Order: sequence, then C-alpha cells, then structure tokens
Amino acid sequence: MKIHEYQAKELLKEHGVAVPAGVSATNTENAVKAAEEMKENGATLFVVKAQIHAGGRGKGKTKNSGVSGVILCDTIDEVRDAADSLLGDTLVTVQTGEEGQKVQRIYVTDGVDIEQEFYLGILLDRSKSKNVIMVSTEGGVEIEKVAEETPEKIVKEWVEPGMELQHNQARRLAFALGLEGDAFKKAVKFIIALYNFYQKTDSNMVEINPLVLTPGGDVMALDAKVTFDDNALFRHKDITDLRDKSEENPVELEASKYGLNYIKLDGNVGCMVNGAGLAMATMDIIKLSGGDPANFLDVGGSANVETVKNGFRIILEDENVKAILINIFGGIVRCDRVANGVIEAVKDPEIAEKVQDVPIIVRLQGTNAEEAKEIIDNSDLNVISAVLLKDAADEVSKVLAA
Ligand code: ADP
Ligand code: MG
Repeated sequence: MKIHEYQAKELLKEHGVAVPAGVSATNTENAVKAAEEMKENGATLFVVKAQIHAGGRGKGKTKNSGVSGVILCDTIDEVRDAADSLLGDTLVTVQTGEEGQKVQRIYVTDGVDIEQEFYLGILLDRSKSKNVIMVSTEGGVEIEKVAEETPEKIVKEWVEPGMELQHNQARRLAFALGLEGDAFKKAVKFIIALYNFYQKTDSNMVEINPLVLTPGGDVMALDAKVTFDDNALFRHKDITDLRDKSEENPVELEASKYGLNYIKLDGNVGCMVNGAGLAMATMDIIKLSGGDPANFLDVGGSANVETVKNGFRIILEDENVKAILINIFGGIVRCDRVANGVIEAVKDPEIAEKVQDVPIIVRLQGTNAEEAKEIIDNSDLNVISAVLLKDAADEVSKVLAA
C-alpha cells in the first residue's frame, strides 16, 4: 500500500525522524491559512507540493497551468497562486505516464535552505534475505541512474530482519555521506530512527530523496516515499486508514475486492490464470506467439464459477481486449469443474453479451484435463480448447489475425 508524502511525514515525525513542518490542504483557502500560521512561527519561505502517488513531481508539469509539482514560494500570495494552479489540474511526471494524475491535495511546507542533498533508501534485499539500507551523496537524482552509472557512489548496510540496526552501521552510513561533527550525530540519529520506523510499521520500502543537510547543520527528510507490506496491514489499523483509494486504478481496486490480483497492461489479449508464476509464463508465451497481454490476472487457488465470472467482468472492462486466454492448472480444483465454471460464466447474460465478439481460448491442465476438454469442445459457445500452452497462444494469434 502506498501513502502520500504528507502522511509519510506525519508518521515519520511521530517516530522521531526529522522532517520540516507542513500542513496538507484540499483547497486554496486552507493552504493560505496554513502558510499564514507557518509565517507566524517564523517561516520565510514556503514550498507547495502536489500530493499524488507518484514521484518525479519536481520535474513534472501540470497539463493546464504548466507548473511544476513542487513550487517554491516567497510570499503568501505566491502560495495562493501555486495552490490555485495545482489543485484540480493534472500532473504529468516520469512516473505517472502520459495521462498524468489529478492533483486533489497539496502540502504546504517550510522552505528549507539546502547545503547538500543525499539519498537514503531502505528495502528488503531478496537476494540476501536481509533488509538493506542504502545511502548516496548523489541525492535529488534518480537512484536507478546512479546505480547504473556510478554504483560505487551507493553505500549499503544489511540488517537481519528482526534485528536492530547497529550503531556502528548507522555511523558507517553517516560517514559515507561525508558528514562531520553535529551533522554526523544528527544523521546517525536520523538513520536509526528511520530504520526503527521501517521495522515497526512493516514497511517494505522507505525512500528519502532528498535527505538534506542545512547550512545550520540540521539533517532532515525533504521528501518521503513509503510503501507498506499489504500482508501485514492487518496489524496496523491506523496505517490502513491512510489508504487513498482515489489514487488507485479503479479496475484494479474492484479486482482486489473480489480477491483477484489484477494489473492492467497495454495489449489486447486478456489473460485469466491461477497462480502468479503461471500468469507470468502465460504472458511470456503470448508475447512469443506474437500477441500482447492486456493484463496480468491471478485468480488464486479457487477457480470456481464466481471467480471466473468476476475475472471476465474485470478483463472485459478493458476495451482493448480482443481475445481471452484462460490458462488454469487444475490440481485441487479439478479441470472438469473449472470447465463447467467457464461455461456457466460465459452463459451469464451480462458476460455473454460482451464476449460475443471476443473469442475465448481455454487451456486446462491437471486433474481430469481430458474430461474438461470434452466439456469445452461439446459446448456450443464461442470457446476454443487447447492442450498445450503454446497451442493455446497460437490459437490466440490465429483468432486475432482472422
Ligand atoms: P519529487 O521527488 O516528487 O520530485 P521532492 O519532494 O523530492 O519531489 O522535491 C523535488 C525537489 O524540490 C527536491 O529535490 C528539493 O530540491 C526541492 N524541495 C522539495 N521540498 C523542499 C522543501 N521543503 N524546501 C526546499 N526545497 C524543497
Ligand atoms: Mg524526491
């Protein structure tokens, strides 16, 4: 689960991680009020930041007003203009894709004098089964670029899950950033607090880009990107409440309600598969046969009539879909039952109407696969059966070419 920057900063603050002061707002009036209060508390520079679930806002541009997603303001009037320009407009960044993301909320925060920008990230290193903390003096730029071009500029420390980050590890990281004296001590404290936050909240990624050093020797997070492990959310009611569904793809959201794991892609072959690994393999083989998958859809372990129906509904919301490939391995769910489920689902009036012009290719393997094929072949529906996955994918190409 992703959260917004303003939410991440509030959580970080609660966990003793240094962040600048700030207030979020959904209208200009509240944004101005927030800036006025900040001014009374001594702020002389403000930054107005679009709150969307995507990064690259600073270099992004809104479609109508053409402003960046991060606007520096010297005066309250400038804050008002920035809020007016951003709210309701659509921000396009390298991470949003061309369609961009609508700005429904902004964050008004203290403008910080920056002496130096750094990068700090924490995530699980799957190859080592350990958490990794990475820092780099190359802050404010895309870390992927640094990793590719100058990997020696990224310094890492690994921590056994369940263990605490050791003080000497935090010191090594702060040292790698070239910090000294008070700033060094503050960075050590920052890194330890951030790692504790990562562990306590079951985050699966925390990225601070940039982490900054101020001329006064303070160390703080100017940006914060946090995602949480969905499987651990049941332990964190307060965090679950931060979910902003308006930022999520509506069809993906609907799929998650049905317990389906769906990700929309750009192709024209809808896929319905059980198991994530098989789904990936199915997408690969569609590509190999010259097709292009329209989605990733894992229906999970129980491929019954209801899940198949819901799968159809979700896939058919995508107008690009010209054919559907169902590839189910029947282990505990016997193939004949899945075949009957597919047929029953296709007969559902709502689905039947939509699949009139969308051929369905079904490949069932496993327990009772032969019976299943017979059931499909004997039905008078627009459903084609296949035994081998390659044959199924070739059938897809054939129907698309026809
Ligand atoms: P994004 O990563 O989405 O572009 P950031 O929060 O990293 O957004 O902001 C982009 C740049 O804007 C930062 O690298 C920093 O230089 C500047 N910036 C962001 N927040 C502040 C702030 N509070 N004070 C001063 N500069 C800021
Ligand atoms: Mg950033």
